[in-house]
Amino acid sequence: MSFAVPAWDLPSLPIAGSADRFPVRRIYCIGRNYAAHAREMGADEREPPFFFLKPADAIVQNGATIPYPAATKDLHYEAELVAAIGMAGANISMEDANDHIFGYGVGIDLTRRDLQNEAKEMRRPWDMGKGFDASAPCSAIHPASEIGHPNSGAITLMVNGAFKQQGDIADMIWNIPESIAYLSGLMRLEAGDLIYTGTPDGVGAIVSGDDVVVHVDGVCDLNIKIG
Ligand code: MN
Repeated sequence: MSFAVPAWDLPSLPIAGSADRFPVRRIYCIGRNYAAHAREMGADEREPPFFFLKPADAIVQNGATIPYPAATKDLHYEAELVAAIGMAGANISMEDANDHIFGYGVGIDLTRRDLQNEAKEMRRPWDMGKGFDASAPCSAIHPASEIGHPNSGAITLMVNGAFKQQGDIADMIWNIPESIAYLSGLMRLEAGDLIYTGTPDGVGAIVSGDDVVVHVDGVCDLNIKIG
C-alpha cells in the first residue's frame, strides 16, 4: 500500500517483561472519578461517569522530557491509573470486564487548565484543554497476567520530590469494571484502547524544569520532565 503523505508510526508503549509493544488505538479518559477531586473542581460527585478522548499520538514514553505546551499558562498534572484493553467488546458486563483488560500502566492526564476552564464556561468541547500534543504520558503496560487487577492501593504524584497527590485507587467513584461496562455501552472497545481512569484530588500546575513522578502500588512508576 502507498500513501499520499508520509504514514506515521503506530503509537505504542512497552510491555513490561516482553519484547512486544502495546499498540495504542484510542485514549479514553474518565472525568472526575474521585469524589475529592470532583469537589475540588466544583462538581457534583454523584453524576454518572463521563468520558473524553485524547489522540493516540499524544502518548509520551516514560522518562521523556515534554516541551511546555503551547497556548497555556496553567499546565496541570493529573495522576491516573491506566487500563489497557486487550480484547474488543461492546456492552461488556461488569462481571466480564476484567477479561477485556490486557494490563495496566501509570499515566498523567496533562491538562491545559486555563483552556479547559474557558471551554467549560463557554459550553464548548474540552479537546483543546485535554487532547493536545504530548498530553498523555504513560508507563510501560504491566500485564494483568503478571500483576492481577489492582483495585486498591496508593496513587501518588510528586513534583520535584514533594508529594502533591496522595490518593487510593479504591476511592474511584466508578471502578474499572463499572467504567468499562458503561463506556462499552457508548462505544465498542477495541484491543489497543487505553482508559485513563481519573485522578484523585490535589491537582495543580507544573512549569518548565519540573520533574514529575507518579506511582501506583502494584503497578509501577512513571517519570517525566517538563522542558
Ligand atoms: Mn483526568
